Amino acid sequence: MVDITKVSFNPALITMLPASLAIKKLLLPCAVIDETVYVLSADPESHKPSELERYFGKKIKLEKTEPLGLREKIKLFYSSSTKKVPGTDQNEVIRLTDEIIFAAVSRSASDIHINPKEEKVFIRLRMSGQLETYKTLPIHSYNGLISRFKILSGMNIAEKRSPQDGKLVYKVPGSNQKVDIRAATIPCINGEKMTLRLLGLNSDSLTLEKIGMSPDHLKIYQEEVQRDNGMILINGATGSGKSTSLYASLRHILELKDVNIITVEDPVEYQIDDVIQVNVDESDKVTFPSALKSILRHDPDVIMIGEIRDAETANIAIKSSLTGHLVLSSLHANSASAAVVRLADIGIEPYMIASTLRVSIAQKLVRKLCQTCRKQTRLSKEEALLLGVEELDGSIIYQKHGCLYCGGSGYSGRIPVFEVLRINNSFKKLIHSGLSDETLRNEMHQRNIPSMFDDAITKMTNGLIDFQECYSTVGSI
Ligand SMILES: [Zn+2]
Repeated sequence: MVDITKVSFNPALITMLPASLAIKKLLLPCAVIDETVYVLSADPESHKPSELERYFGKKIKLEKTEPLGLREKIKLFYSSSTKKVPGTDQNEVIRLTDEIIFAAVSRSASDIHINPKEEKVFIRLRMSGQLETYKTLPIHSYNGLISRFKILSGMNIAEKRSPQDGKLVYKVPGSNQKVDIRAATIPCINGEKMTLRLLGLNSDSLTLEKIGMSPDHLKIYQEEVQRDNGMILINGATGSGKSTSLYASLRHILELKDVNIITVEDPVEYQIDDVIQVNVDESDKVTFPSALKSILRHDPDVIMIGEIRDAETANIAIKSSLTGHLVLSSLHANSASAAVVRLADIGIEPYMIASTLRVSIAQKLVRKLCQTCRKQTRLSKEEALLLGVEELDGSIIYQKHGCLYCGGSGYSGRIPVFEVLRINNSFKKLIHSGLSDETLRNEMHQRNIPSMFDDAITKMTNGLIDFQECYSTVGSI
């Protein structure tokens, strides 16, 4: 019996089965696994799979689920299409934008790419960090589609030769959920390419316990994040999940004590109750430094700065952390030690870094194995050699498979691999005496502080990630 509340639906399949048929026969297609389309039914024996094959052009497998939940989902997925007035172009455009947003949200995509190319327009979704083609449409759908998104996000639809950006709030079809989207266009040889970034974060994952830290890392971080002053840095490339970790930290602090938290962000990605959030917007003349100077007059206990990009912001951050504030921020750096060096490169005196920085964390997102269908296997000698850890030869690990709960992909979301560097006295001394990445890394090695790669190895042997994802972190120290 399939638990319908956990199924990951593929919207492309839903649109392939006529609504009238789905509603009348209580059938709901959900995923393609091994070239077979899985269709949910409350009574699988009463249907002939062969009768459904023509809608999908693939083999059909019927799976049993409970009728109440099934009815609810069918109503949700097919109600908008039964109300649709066919015929007019505008309706078709609305249906298409609805479908694309719905597809992206229901598959937890982070970005939607609309890319025109000669006779076709490619709609691609970035899911778990990977770009996948969702749909290929004939080019005549392109103008209506891109114009609608441009209008909704406040762009000039007549302007097609310069890059533009904007934002919109889209109501997810069939639910009361709304999603914040940042939109951008850039002129290409075949027309404008559009990228839509979905900003709505899943609030469930916003607790420190759920962001994926190992017990040792979590213990260190929980100790540091509850202090009254000093600086905490969470570092990584764009899209490494830094914001999620920062938001989870703020929520953790709020659970522990009643404090005044103010954030300065570009943009505010997720709204947290009881936190004052300021949006940096260059066009509105609100910059990181100007916003920071004014928020200090509002008596904050904790300040979160979305990202430190320049010396002025870094200086205000350091000074605030010296004067009785806890400051959380991020840097574009690939390791915990590189972030420390980066601060010095920006122009902060090493003794200032040594006296304020409490912990520097680096993170990178990798795909997490679906825990429902993962399959046990053993690491081969070749794989152990590729990882450079020969003694792991033969250890039990897990590999991906595919089920209805992960949409057949074998993965469910992403999990960060972390490096956590607590700045204790020996590191303070090192930083004070003028620092380099090499000396910091040597010291970390001497003190057995796990690197991001070590964390990936632990996550692989614990069955959270597969060999492939572990191997992808080899270069990242
Ligand atoms: Zn699965």
